[in-house]
Amino acid sequence: MEKIIKKLEEFVAARDWEQFHTPKNLAISIAIEAAELLEHFQWNDVQFRELPDRKAIEEEVADVMIYCLLFLNYMGSSVEEVLMNKIQKNEKKYEVS
Ligand SMILES: [Mg+2]
Repeated sequence: MEKIIKKLEEFVAARDWEQFHTPKNLAISIAIEAAELLEHFQWNDVQFRELPDRKAIEEEVADVMIYCLLFLNYMGSSVEEVLMNKIQKNEKKYEVS
């Protein structure tokens, strides 16, 4: 994860894009990329084994994840910690009966 975040920081810095990365812009970008992912399923309801355009779908998932990683990174949050905390919270909220 650290390697990926470092690579993203380098990518953004080299292009001087930090100036555009406000919380609102990143949140909007997450939603836009999620919509681009949804577009692949607009008129179908396929299962994972029969996904159309696998490569393009992978790229949209990556776009969503990249903006999420940037968002947490700008917040100074640890991605691992945030995810683990949320999973643990969900485990308590949705107990196995
Ligand atoms: Mg995209």
